[in-house]
Parts: sequence; C-alpha cells; structure tokens
Amino acid sequence: MSPRRARRRGPFDRPDGRGAGRPVEAVPGVDRVETSPDGDWVVRNVSGPALGKAYRCPGCEQEIRSGVPHIVSWPAWPGGEDERRHWHTACWRNRANRGPGRSRY
Ligand SMILES: [Zn+2]
Repeated sequence: MSPRRARRRGPFDRPDGRGAGRPVEAVPGVDRVETSPDGDWVVRNVSGPALGKAYRCPGCEQEIRSGVPHIVSWPAWPGGEDERRHWHTACWRNRANRGPGRSRY
C-alpha cells in the first residue's frame, strides 16, 4: 500500500508560502502598469471598440476596426488618462523599436 496523499493543490498553492507569487497575466478589463524606458504606463486589454467605432493606432497609423482586441494605454500619473491611446497589441509591444525621435503617442 502506498500512502497516497489526497491533497488538492493548485500550482500556486505551495507549502513554502510562496503561493502569492502568481504570474502577471493579461486579463481583459483589468489594468496593469508596465514600466518601460519611456515611463510607466497603465495598460488595459480591451476586446474591441464598440460597434461602428474605430480608432487609429499611433504605432502603425492604421485603423483598429470594430471587434479587434487591442490595448488602451496612458501614462501612469495623475491626469494621464486624458492621454489615452488605442493601440494594436503588437504595435504597443513594438513601440520601443520605433527608434528615437518618434512621438511616443
Ligand atoms: Zn497598429
């Protein structure tokens, strides 16, 4: 008879008390703060613009069409929400590669 432990453990429920260290994941509708060379940014994943609404991505200057999941970001300081921009997710990731001299918006 092998002693079997019928314990239910989640992958983060660790006996050494480190269970709090969950990985940060992109959860739709939940803001997170990203620290980048160009500052701290609040980033929100959105499932897509409202029907009939379209935004222009500052990264590629193409339209983000209705229903396309993308992100909204703004500077992580008081009042930064006035600077909200809609980005294609990939363009946001690549914005650091756009080189100097470009507007960060
Ligand atoms: Zn884009």
